[in-house]
Amino acid sequence: MKNQELVDYLVSCGVCTICQLRYLRARGTEYNDINQSFQRLGVKVPENQLEDETNGISTDEQPLKKPRLSHCSTCLGIFSEDFQRELIEGIIASDFGKYDSEGIVLAITMPMSLQLRQLSMWFALQRKFGPTVHSNSPPDVPIKEAVKLILHPIICKKLDKKYDANGLMISIDLRHTVEEQEVDKLVELNRVAFPGKTLKRIEISRGLLEKQYQPSRVKAETYEKYLPIPPPAVDESLSLKSIDLQGPMVCVAGRYRKLSRELSHTPWLLQGVRQMEDSIEEIIIRSVGPHFTETVPKITFMSSGREDVDVRCLGKGRPFVLEIPNSRHSSLTKERALAMEQAVDKSGKVSILNLQVVPREQAMHIKTGEEQKRKYYRALCALKEPATLEILQKLQIPESFDIQQKTPIRVLHRRPLHTRPRTIYSVKARLQRDNPLVLVIDIVTQAGTYIKELVHGEFGRTTPSFSSIIGKPIDIQALDVVGIDLDWPPEVDNSLSQ
Ligand SMILES: [Zn+2]
Repeated sequence: MKNQELVDYLVSCGVCTICQLRYLRARGTEYNDINQSFQRLGVKVPENQLEDETNGISTDEQPLKKPRLSHCSTCLGIFSEDFQRELIEGIIASDFGKYDSEGIVLAITMPMSLQLRQLSMWFALQRKFGPTVHSNSPPDVPIKEAVKLILHPIICKKLDKKYDANGLMISIDLRHTVEEQEVDKLVELNRVAFPGKTLKRIEISRGLLEKQYQPSRVKAETYEKYLPIPPPAVDESLSLKSIDLQGPMVCVAGRYRKLSRELSHTPWLLQGVRQMEDSIEEIIIRSVGPHFTETVPKITFMSSGREDVDVRCLGKGRPFVLEIPNSRHSSLTKERALAMEQAVDKSGKVSILNLQVVPREQAMHIKTGEEQKRKYYRALCALKEPATLEILQKLQIPESFDIQQKTPIRVLHRRPLHTRPRTIYSVKARLQRDNPLVLVIDIVTQAGTYIKELVHGEFGRTTPSFSSIIGKPIDIQALDVVGIDLDWPPEVDNSLSQ
């Protein structure tokens, strides 16, 4: 089969120039200059054909452009300039302008008719050119691939965006009036071509078409009883059924300080009943989320560990990250970040700093090596009798030691019963000024240590404990986290913008 013969036949079947190149198996940039590609392939293209096609071929220098009478029989006009224009206009008319993502990714759902027509043309070429056309490898660059090769770059260029798999996802659903009728015929065909598998219309999928519908599995004679070979050109163009936008996932990190002893980490529900009116998660999301997305409830809040309700977190604060799906913005100005920090500070219960957008892959830092991390605490502890020098000396432990800790009774309802070894790196106690019954104890521990039980021992369930070390009862009155062993996210001072 010569290229010229192939093209002549395709032209007679109402196939557009782009699709002719697809059947000549043109690759990549060969679609950019159609004339040149035809020349290189040794094909002479009829003059009148070049007037109404795509990609710079049709120009303003041809005022006598004829109105199109029909659309390509194999692509239904998906590669035509008119359709490209309609597509771009459709995208611009959507909420596209609300997203500032520099990259876009396209997901175009095409009518099943396109696959049927590919098969039909495949049969037609086999009839015309015989065994040079294989039965199990398609004679063309498939439309799906060609759309990526041709349409994607054009759309990106027109919208002035880069193609980026993590960018704004534009899902485009295309329809054509012939689809319904052709798929009805396909259902009938399917009963005959693959008996035993009676599929309802809804079950006929694009995947099934791709897999089962090849000349090696379906006979042309069977196919032709239901659908024509070669495929006829159509009068109507493709239409846009819908354009859906899904913004990228954006991660916003920072550090929070918990200033209240009456605040839970996340919404605290017991049997569906709220126990506290607010939580760290809600306060932060409320101030940061709405700027980025309309779907605030879909935001995920993560932190490097957490405190109990009655524990404060001071010092530099605890790293956290928000995963914000469908985000309109992919960056955050210092001014905006500062305003968000100030909004959270207003709660009086939580304060945040170092707020910034971070790369998505970095957000994982927050969960890695959690068990190995060191935690820094300050505990206010009460004795039953005044502290002695001996007690104070016993609670100066500069070197590390191990404890065995059974799951505390207070968390048994949500954690399995285990005895866990934990390392205590250092203990340093001092008297609270003017009160010999109260000690201030600085403790450095391995992550996951239950501090309250480390202090009072919980009836020997934690050994050794501060109580067993001093041989006297001691209880904890208040606990602060004063440091987290995670040097992330990087420090940024958003107030410097002012
Ligand atoms: Zn075409």
